[in-house]
Amino acid sequence: MDKKSYQAATLAVQAGYNPGNGDPRIAPLVQSTTYRYSDAQSVADLFDLKRDGYFYTRLANPTVAVLEEKIAALEHGVGAVAVSSGQTANTLAILNIAGAGDHIVAASALYGGTVNLFTVTLPKMGLKFTLVPPDAGEAEIAAAVRPNTKAIFAETIANPALDVVDFDKFARVAKRFELPFIVDNTFPTPILCNPIDFGANIVTHSSTKYLDGHATSVGGVIVEGGNYPWDNGKFPELCTPDESYHGVVYTRDFPQCPYSVKLRAQWVRDLGTPMAPMNAWLTNLGCETLAVRMERHCANALAMAEFLQKHPKVAWVSYPMLPGDSEYERAKKYLRGGSGVLSFGVKGGREAAAKLIGALKLAALVVHVADVRTCVLHPASMTHRQLTGEQLAAAGVKPELIRLSVGIEAIDDIRADFEQALAQL
Ligand code: PLP
Repeated sequence: MDKKSYQAATLAVQAGYNPGNGDPRIAPLVQSTTYRYSDAQSVADLFDLKRDGYFYTRLANPTVAVLEEKIAALEHGVGAVAVSSGQTANTLAILNIAGAGDHIVAASALYGGTVNLFTVTLPKMGLKFTLVPPDAGEAEIAAAVRPNTKAIFAETIANPALDVVDFDKFARVAKRFELPFIVDNTFPTPILCNPIDFGANIVTHSSTKYLDGHATSVGGVIVEGGNYPWDNGKFPELCTPDESYHGVVYTRDFPQCPYSVKLRAQWVRDLGTPMAPMNAWLTNLGCETLAVRMERHCANALAMAEFLQKHPKVAWVSYPMLPGDSEYERAKKYLRGGSGVLSFGVKGGREAAAKLIGALKLAALVVHVADVRTCVLHPASMTHRQLTGEQLAAAGVKPELIRLSVGIEAIDDIRADFEQALAQL
């Protein structure tokens, strides 16, 4: 399929699978760990990356490949690798280009699991991180860059602070220091934003969220933009022989997508973190309705943001597409919609928040976000509970913040549920 000639809504349905005459119309679930060959040389060539194909599902699988091609097309990238979770996606996106002794600059408004990854787990492996406020000036971000800095990292819409990254600002600093810019695009999905068009070089996803959309499958995807010169001297591992593949040089032998081939061949192979075929199949099915779902999520979330903003028991509401919101101008500039996630605080703080959550009937309390069912969460005591007060503030998480993930149910029913719950405060 010519990726350039179709719009996102078409790619979401059709990209990644081109059945031939008599083939199944729907991409089949290849629930097989392995593949049969009739001669040893074929398998040897596959092992040496001399030809494309499948030999073991830890490295590649036809069902997973369908999803990878679809997400790469949707994100305007040149390649994608699907992995076991969003956490794995962010971990490998970094480990593929940085190791012990290296340093990363990240905007501090991040998902709690990413904060922990950057401040506890990866530092144990010798990586260093500097978190800068998302509203830091260009000079402050530039001042955080060190000679050993290997990347700049940010979330498009931060979970749950909902800051919208200033792509121009971060991409300018990345360009100035010739650093790859990695963007976690989980909340907007490629339907609402394409970070590569705004200067990102690598895009990551927790496909567990809107891409799947039905809360069935944990997964992650890393997309390569094809717009970074990996042979600029900063990343010798991409440009010198890899002894584990008999001297493959990724930039020479895979000039189209050296970063993705290296990530799959070294990291997914050695750490054993592929996406499971069943999860890829379900996620691909979810992606088929992504464009229509995102339209409905955005409309419902805006309606809920407007309703909550007017409610006398609500202290504040944050939604990037709400006129007057601190993120509104950036949201208008970079996003085609605000996603289904908003946050708000009720008068009465933390206790009132707990009471409200308990009073909801349609909206469920779940440790999840971004699927078809409306749900709520209290990050300070749940997803972000491992963070210190200081880290909570840096991640933009107020103690009373309720994260509301607005589903695709009828808006009147969602609104009525919050109306009755707020009436009980
Ligand atoms: N990135 C963002 C923005 C997230 O919201 C999450 C999870 O909520 C992750 C990464 C981690 O993804 P997963 O839960 O699939 O490991």
